[in-house]
Amino acid sequence: MDDEQGTRTPCIFCDIIAGRAPAHQVYADGGCVAFLDLFPITRGHVLVVPKRHVDRLTDLRPEEYSDLLRAVVEVCRRVERLSPDYNVAVNQGRLAGQIVFHLHFHVIPRYDVPGPFATTPRTRITESEAVSVGHALAGP
Ligand code: 5GP
Ligand code: ZN
Repeated sequence: MDDEQGTRTPCIFCDIIAGRAPAHQVYADGGCVAFLDLFPITRGHVLVVPKRHVDRLTDLRPEEYSDLLRAVVEVCRRVERLSPDYNVAVNQGRLAGQIVFHLHFHVIPRYDVPGPFATTPRTRITESEAVSVGHALAGP
């Protein structure tokens, strides 16, 4: 990608999109590509990527939303050839596990091993926590 100063920042997904780096592409349209994850969590783990470099979802232009969702849904349809069970995930930021800072949706088929949320212990939300966090998230 080029920043405002015109400096090239290395981005492996931009290299793949430009054909400078190899990948096993499974889908492409005008705005998006999808290719196999190099280190798949399961067989058929696919990454759906907008061609324009943005770090994260909130950097997308509203007019780009529908193209990206269309590509994600099309890849999901194909992944259903492998399994009806799959996760669609976006990691945003380092603490969420993002290591490639070019927006991408993971589509991760699930077979016989439960998905990631099944192993995380969870407790019921308290009323005060719901009010507090609900307040933070309400409104535009
Ligand atoms: P993140 O953790 O940023 O959400 O996911 C990045 C994903 O990109 C990881 O699942 C990782 O295995 C994958 N990945 C990293 N480098 C490459 C690469 O060079 N090619 C492909 N196809 N996938 C990659
Ligand atoms: Zn990029």
